[in-house]
Amino acid sequence: MRCRRCGEKAVLKMPRHNTAVCGNCLNDYVIEQVKRAVKDQKMFERGGRVLVAVSGGKDSLTLWDILMRLEYETAGLHIQQGIGDYSEQSYKKTVAFAESRGAELIVHSLREEEGAGVLELAKLTDRSPCSACGVMKRYNFNRIAHDRHFDVLATGHNLDDEASRLLGNILRWQEDYLAKQSPTLPATREKLVKKVKPLYRLAEREITAYAVVNKIDYVIEECPMSVGSKMLVNKEVLNRLEADAPGTKQAFYFGFLERQKGADLSHEDEKIQSCTRCGQPTTARVCAYCRILEKVKAAT
Ligand code: AMP
Ligand code: ZN
Repeated sequence: MRCRRCGEKAVLKMPRHNTAVCGNCLNDYVIEQVKRAVKDQKMFERGGRVLVAVSGGKDSLTLWDILMRLEYETAGLHIQQGIGDYSEQSYKKTVAFAESRGAELIVHSLREEEGAGVLELAKLTDRSPCSACGVMKRYNFNRIAHDRHFDVLATGHNLDDEASRLLGNILRWQEDYLAKQSPTLPATREKLVKKVKPLYRLAEREITAYAVVNKIDYVIEECPMSVGSKMLVNKEVLNRLEADAPGTKQAFYFGFLERQKGADLSHEDEKIQSCTRCGQPTTARVCAYCRILEKVKAAT
């Protein structure tokens, strides 16, 4: 198999573009898609400070790698979830990557800062581990980015993540969630930091290929808590549709973004208020984070 762009040996077939690419042309393609995402979705400007949420997986390390290549001013933020060996590996790979680039990395340990890891938090609050983890991550992403004066918080969500989340939201007609499912979420309130997903144009397998070609050492295992999750089932379904008709995922998610353009989301904002305990933006009187912490304190 030869690269359709330059004739070198190809490393990846890309059926949705009816092409195949070599390592160099893959890099050009991936970087071009990120540039386009940043520009089209008005994610950030040169001179802005970007906090990249890095889990140690292929997506977020690839994202950080590309933003550094493009010479954006970045720092990494890693949340130590305290889920045994998986979290230990994730932490080690993230630290090793940051050190290899001489990049600034902020580490936040749930055990040290909040007093318990994800599994204990879930038990104490009768939430699923994924729900407790989600609250802790979202809260700390926003608070740390805000307190340290970053302009924007970037995550490594890719096309597969966004298409499967869209499918899940549509299957249950979760309109509140649909309104928020955009690659750029502006900072509409005080203390709320803008959130962006610069990899939304790239398929998971394209990112994996980029990580391999560029020798990025990432955690291969998925989080043990995600086994059997709806998200993974939706991804499998979409992969079957994609195999049958390449381009389906892209048409599905990009089509949604087209239709979402110009939609009036102002009513979503009205529900946001300040948490009476911590002052962070929330849709409830006391935010989910503070409610979880209350239970941790009561148990210790
Ligand atoms: P996930 O929800 O695990 O698919 O992760 C989606 C994105 O959230 C990743 O690409 C990262 O940007 C971010 N993320 C997930 N876990 C962590 C973590 N432990 N620390 C920092 N960022 C994370
Ligand atoms: Zn709060």
